[in-house]
Order: sequence, then C-alpha cells, then structure tokens
Amino acid sequence: MSQVKGDSMHLRNRAMDWGRAGGVGLILSALVSTAATGAEGASRESLAHAKTLRNRALTGTSAMTIVTSLTTEVGPRLAGSDAEARARAWALQTLTAKGFAGVRSEPFEMDAWQRHDEGAEIIAPYPQPLAVTALGGSVPTPETGLLGTVAVFETLEDLKRAPAGSVTGRIAYVGHAMQRTQDGSSYGYFNEARTAGPSIAASKGAMGYLIRSVGTDSHRFPHTGSLRYQEGIPRIPAMALSNPDADQIERIAADKSDVRMRMWVDSSERPAAQSGNVIAEITGREAPEEIVVIGAHLDSWDLGTGAIDDGAGVGITMAALELIKDAGLAPRRTIRLVLWGAEEVGLLGAQAYRKQHEAALAQHVIGSESDFGGGRVWKLTADSQTEEGDALFLEIANLLAPMGIAPGSDDQPGGGPDLYPLIAAGVPTLRMHQDGRDYFDLHHTADDTVDKLDAAALDHNVAAFAVFAWLVADSDVTFRAGAQ
Ligand SMILES: [Zn+2]
Repeated sequence: MSQVKGDSMHLRNRAMDWGRAGGVGLILSALVSTAATGAEGASRESLAHAKTLRNRALTGTSAMTIVTSLTTEVGPRLAGSDAEARARAWALQTLTAKGFAGVRSEPFEMDAWQRHDEGAEIIAPYPQPLAVTALGGSVPTPETGLLGTVAVFETLEDLKRAPAGSVTGRIAYVGHAMQRTQDGSSYGYFNEARTAGPSIAASKGAMGYLIRSVGTDSHRFPHTGSLRYQEGIPRIPAMALSNPDADQIERIAADKSDVRMRMWVDSSERPAAQSGNVIAEITGREAPEEIVVIGAHLDSWDLGTGAIDDGAGVGITMAALELIKDAGLAPRRTIRLVLWGAEEVGLLGAQAYRKQHEAALAQHVIGSESDFGGGRVWKLTADSQTEEGDALFLEIANLLAPMGIAPGSDDQPGGGPDLYPLIAAGVPTLRMHQDGRDYFDLHHTADDTVDKLDAAALDHNVAAFAVFAWLVADSDVTFRAGAQ
C-alpha cells in the first residue's frame, strides 16, 4: 500500500508541475514537435487511427449487446459459484467468436461463500418485517436466529469508542449514512462500517451486527458486500438493512424505545472452489511481450444480475478491444483484456494474476480497469513517472477533450481495484473516472440490472478505452521511471 500511496503522491506533484510550467499548452506545443519528428510518442498515423476509433465508437459499439448477453444468459455470478464458472464459459465462447488471439481461462482455487436464507424482523415495540441482506462472508446464525435488543450507533466511530463489554449480548447497529458524490470517493470511508464493523462490534461483546446499507438510494433494496473478520475475534453474523428500514430502526430508537429484533442467516463456505481469470488479446506486431492491460471483473454479487457492477465494465472493455480489431489495426504492443474472477470477495483473481504473471510484470506497460458502472467518463488520470509518458497521456487527453473528458490529478491509486496488486508490483495505471452519482443507488443490490444502463454512455466509455489502449499499445513510450 505504501507503493500505491507513493505513486499517487507523484501524480499530484506532477499535476502541480504542469500548473507551474504554465499549463498543458506548453507541453502540447512540445508535443507537436516530437510528433512531427516521429522520434517518440504517438506518430501522426497512430493519432489518426485513434481519432477514427473514437469517432466510430461514438456512433455505436457492441458494449450494450455484450452486457445484455452476460446478464441475461448467465445472470448473477458469485465468486467461486457454478454461475461464475458459467460466466467464464460465456466469456470464452464470446471472445472466441469475436476472433481474438490468446483466448484462455487461468484458473485458481478459493473458499466460496454461499447465501442460502436470510431475514430480520422487529419483535417489539412495533412488530414488522425488515428488508435486510447478509453481508458477504457472514457466518450463519443458529437456526432459530438471533434474538436481542439493538444498540444503536450513529457512526462507526461511535462504535469504536464504545467501552468493551458495553454491547454484550446485543445486536450492534451502525448508521454511518453515505452521501452521493460524483467520483465515489467517500465509499472507502463509509464501507469500513461493512468491512471492519463486524469484528469491532464483536470485540465489544455484540452477538450480531447490523448496518445501514452502504448505498445512496431510498429504496427497500439492501446492499450486500464483503466483510472482513479479524483474526482472534469471534465471528458474528452481519447484515445490512435497506436505507428506509435503517430509518425505521433509528426512528424507533430515537423515541427511547428499546428495539427488540430477530435476525437470521443461513450461509456456508465451500473450500477449494474453482474461479479463474479469462483473457483475450490483440497480439502486438513488434513487441508482443509488452502488455497493455484493460478489463473488468467477471464475478458479481448474487442479488442482482451484476449489470452495473461489473457487466458494464465487461461490455466497455471487450467492445473497445473489438473496435480496434475490427478496424484491422495491429498495435506495436499486445493489448490484453483480462476479465478478473472473484473481485468482490477480495481481489482474488487479481492476486492470482499477479502470481501467475510475476515474471512478465516488468513488461506490463500500463493497465486500466472499468469498474464503476456505466456512467460517462469526465476525468482522466494516470500515474506516469516519465516525461514521455506524460506527453502521451496529454495526447490521449487531447483526443478525449471533445467528449467532455479533462485530465486531472487524483489522491486515489488509479486504474481500478483489480489493478491494486499490479500497482504494488510497480505497474503504472490510467483511470477513466466515470460519473458515479447514481452508482451507489444500485451497487450490490437486487436492483443492479441491465435496464439501468444507457448504450450511448457505454459507447462513450468504449471510445475512451479504445483511444487509450490503441495509442499506448501502438507506441514505445514507457510510463515507468528507470525503465529502458
Ligand atoms: Zn465492481
């Protein structure tokens, strides 16, 4: 993680350098001269192809057809499940039919969590059922469920400050209400209630754990997502209430009434289950061993059909690769599409990829994942560590500017979650920041379905990915300090 932090610091400093140097204009004029000599960066021909790809994408791509096919013919595809295996079969068949090179699955083993049954109800003072779902990884309750009073905490911080033993034998509830943002940057802060909360509650003596969904909608769709039990602390069942149901609990509790409730979860873990990453490529014409990675994760949560998370990313990146291939273009380097397995349960596919490709990581030029739904791109960032990388980044940004996409800096590590293990191994990343104001309305809910996606917005993303993947792959530009 310190490596990741270092990279983003670098990015910020570089953005400030541009500001001090009089902005992008200076660098762009420097670019024109390099492009004219053809000595480095993107050639005029390469830039012309990129422009054609962009324009073609904006008139319509296969992205919507791909995500519709995946979410209809496979549906939900929980990591390590038979459904995720069907998703791999779907991907292999689809990628082969599209005529890509190197189509293959790279399997790995994992412990697969399964949801069987779940529910919750208020027993007193006002008996009624609640819309609730188990967090991914939750241990089951006894068959009769957990019966107890609720200890209400407004924020996770309040729970952290509660004295040891103060919630013994009770169900700890944490509100910690998330608000919508364009870039989803508050998710990391708010989802700690989901990931770390169960063990914090258990360390104070709680027998069960309940959160307000980490989500921004006001519908009765609870949001699931992974929890992370801490070693050495009892594992307690953990669930999320939909936002209106969380309001209900808070209203009753504010009335000074003790809320007495029952919650039940039936779940299990299957050891040594199969998962895998699916790969397809356009082979590089001159330096096939140099890899530009694009992709998305193939698994999804089990409640919806995983259209925005992350069928959209699968559609966008697969369509971008298809666009380049169908234009008859062969880039200098290889463009590799990776459809990662088991992202939702802890980036297991990404970690397996890093292990399986350890020897080739130095030749991974740059990577970018699409994993933030189907909204349009509005900002572009990259953690380039070289001048020539910065220059090519600005060429990409320049081509995407007419689409309303501006280059920017960012405090977050770039590239998407499945690239974190590669970032830690020194692989540079680029990120297409999508407008995610409605992303957390649907994220990890039963309402994550394909009707929510907009084909034109997906095409907008395809254009951005195609321009990026093509220009980097067709160049000999390095983004790593000290490389070459
Ligand atoms: Zn995702």
